[in-house]
Amino acid sequence: MNDPSSYADFPEMAELYRCNELLSSLNRSAPDGKAEARMNIEGWVHDKGRAFPLASFEFGNRDPSSPVLVIVGGIHGLEKIGSQIILSFLRSWIRLLQWDQTLVKSLDACRILFYPIANPAGMCRNSRSNASGIDLMRNAPIDADTKVYPLVGGHRLSPRLPWYRGAKESAGEEGMENEAKVLADFIRRQCFEAKQSIVLDVHSGFGWIDRVWFPFASTKKPFPDVSNVLAIKQLLDRSYPHHVYKIEPQNHSYMTHGDLWDYLYLDHSKLKDGNIFLPLCLEMGSWPWIKKNPRQLFSSSGFFNPILPHRIKRAERRHFLLFNFLVKAIASGEAWDLADPQKKHFLEEQAKRLWYST
Ligand SMILES: [Zn+2]
Repeated sequence: MNDPSSYADFPEMAELYRCNELLSSLNRSAPDGKAEARMNIEGWVHDKGRAFPLASFEFGNRDPSSPVLVIVGGIHGLEKIGSQIILSFLRSWIRLLQWDQTLVKSLDACRILFYPIANPAGMCRNSRSNASGIDLMRNAPIDADTKVYPLVGGHRLSPRLPWYRGAKESAGEEGMENEAKVLADFIRRQCFEAKQSIVLDVHSGFGWIDRVWFPFASTKKPFPDVSNVLAIKQLLDRSYPHHVYKIEPQNHSYMTHGDLWDYLYLDHSKLKDGNIFLPLCLEMGSWPWIKKNPRQLFSSSGFFNPILPHRIKRAERRHFLLFNFLVKAIASGEAWDLADPQKKHFLEEQAKRLWYST
């Protein structure tokens, strides 16, 4: 099952295995024999007699307390462009590590992880949900504390409708789908001991512009680590003044039940160990792709993905800036972790005015 030719009908999974082949061949030929990187299989998903891996790629320091960036894609199977961009970045990254000494050195003190295809059965089937019809971003055991939009906010009516949360009302984490559980375990293992951790979960399909969302999706309450998010935003604004991102709490756009990142953030905050865990979502605005090429509306995945090749390339180039910026941010955590309480308080007040004054 582990060779690219078994995935002729699933180009993203074939590319994932090709990246692993490239990584293994380069690791074998590394002059000092140092294997800096590896692919891990975190779990398996079975559908229609096939087994799909839930794979991660791990680079850098192995110490679980070192700062870590995790880039996640494909939670919604239809949103293939996210996985494609992550895999393309991963391929560049594997090549760069062969010669780019600044990058190699930065990995002495931090870790960069990729989890490119979180819902492989859904992606192979061209569906947003997993093979059981469950939306993995509505499936965590957490309810929104106010009214959410019907359907899109998550529901328990039928797996035949999109945004289905699953049937179990009170099963807790045991009731979560396999893909969501494996991802949650992976995040806990990799991020919860780290001094600073950032997750970037890549999605597409909503809005005219590219947004970076931070929690919460389940409540209007301010995000407790909003000062750190503002510190990161200021670094991005000052270093790349022409960047394209609107950074805001997810609840400015819509609220949902069952958000996995809210669930994990609240779980992490119970540890009260002073570590910072920032789960962010990149929501690529797909509506301009449709405006420029309305035929996309008639393609099964066209609403969520650019179709013309030049637009795919442009999407890749556009978001590499954010990925590279976050790599720098995790390697230089002291620039935004706000150890000085006065500065933290100052930014917190500023963030509340920016995002929470009504
Ligand atoms: Zn999505």
